[in-house]
Amino acid sequence: MRAYAALNEAVAEVNDLMNSISILNWDARTQMPAGGTLTRGQQLATLSAIAQERLASDHLQKLLEAAEAEVAQQPTDGLERRGVEAVRQAADLFRRIPAALTRELAQLRTTAQQSWAEARSQQNFSLFAADLERMFALNRELAAIMGYQEHPYDAMVDLYEPGMTASKLRQLFAGLRQTLVPLVRSIANSPAPRTDFLHRSFPVELQREFALRVAHAFGLDPQRSRLDASLHPFEVSFTRQDVRITTRYRENFLNPALFGVFHETGHALYEQNVDPALTRTALTSDLRNLYAVGGTSFGAHESQARLWENLIGRSRSFWNHWFGQLQQTFPQSLSDVDVEAFFRGVNAVQPSLIRVEADEVTYNLHIMLRVEVEMGLMDGSIAVRDLPEVWNQKINDYLGVTPPNDAVGVLQDIHWSHGNIGSFPAYTIGNLMGAQLMETAHQQVAGLQDSLDQGNYQPLLHWLTEAVYRHGRRYTVDELLAQTTGQPLQSQAFERYITQKFSALYGA
Ligand code: ZN
Repeated sequence: MRAYAALNEAVAEVNDLMNSISILNWDARTQMPAGGTLTRGQQLATLSAIAQERLASDHLQKLLEAAEAEVAQQPTDGLERRGVEAVRQAADLFRRIPAALTRELAQLRTTAQQSWAEARSQQNFSLFAADLERMFALNRELAAIMGYQEHPYDAMVDLYEPGMTASKLRQLFAGLRQTLVPLVRSIANSPAPRTDFLHRSFPVELQREFALRVAHAFGLDPQRSRLDASLHPFEVSFTRQDVRITTRYRENFLNPALFGVFHETGHALYEQNVDPALTRTALTSDLRNLYAVGGTSFGAHESQARLWENLIGRSRSFWNHWFGQLQQTFPQSLSDVDVEAFFRGVNAVQPSLIRVEADEVTYNLHIMLRVEVEMGLMDGSIAVRDLPEVWNQKINDYLGVTPPNDAVGVLQDIHWSHGNIGSFPAYTIGNLMGAQLMETAHQQVAGLQDSLDQGNYQPLLHWLTEAVYRHGRRYTVDELLAQTTGQPLQSQAFERYITQKFSALYGA
């Protein structure tokens, strides 16, 4: 047998373990009774430890060295060579991190989640400060072990966005800040659109039916997917053959389930359209995060969720096509609303304190604030004790709002208590990448706008599959974009999109 094939067999088993972790997580978030929490945690820890041991094992080192020798003459972006490199990165990572550090991080995650929840409910940041301080100290150690060129944040963000750095992020956000801050100000001074009709009565079963009809029109394959309800919506795949999404329903608010399903469908389309040949390989396995996923990074994944949710699902063309059917589904609540009012209502912009409730215009400013804070905490230019003050100042500068307490300010996100430092940029990378791809799709696909106007999403899905989905994890975000659009990740396409759409909507 070839050395590459032997390595692949070992990786396929790790991929199976990671898929098992994913299905236990899916179950915990959709079906499991609360009583299962403790033992489920133990089951997940056991599977993670086994996967990690396999990746760090001497046996895998031998397979890896042989495979590296075998693919050394192949092109640097060759399929097999990229797969072998991904295994090398993960093996090095797990062999280098001392067991004591892994253990301390795991323990801290448990205590930090408790102190974060306590601080949030008491609206008192100081109850979380010591654990947060320790969390960043341990992550600085981790960054030093993993290595970086310029900034300790580079090591952290690379785990979620291979190739992304602090300096590239600063450049992207500088462009966004220049466009978005004045746009938010001028929108805030314009009359707000009506949104009251979004809060009428919308029977849950009908919400589900309509959202699924759209998801299937987008191209979600019903034979390889399912939709369930959960508290926090998500998408997860157990290979491209079984891709699951969830949403949450509010009887008296149409947006969460509707746009939530569009969003998760975007994630699902990415996973369902990865080249079948990559199944159970390193190119459908995020080996460093022990996560079986076909998308190449968290940001690339988010780009597809946001493209289908916002660039399609919140577009005028989309609602011109679908509003009649939505009205027929909910005649009592929507018969006195016209498509123009509805389109404006689902695109309402409202500078607010809470990231997860943010609209298309303000969302990236919430992320910019968090990324600046994370970088400052990693390089020591911001001290944990000053965090509430820093937070409140920044959110006022960017959005013109002031948190009345820390629960709706610095304590609102769970990410830092989990130790997920460097995961926030993915949201903005997703917004930028989605706009950059969409702009190019319109240039390259003849008649794209006409087919979208008719509710035919096949040409777009086909183009995205060729450009992005089928490659799995073979190329980075910058490589995918350079191949497709001629440029690495940029903020300009998003700036053009957002300015055009919202200046027209608000006369701003
Ligand atoms: Zn998402």
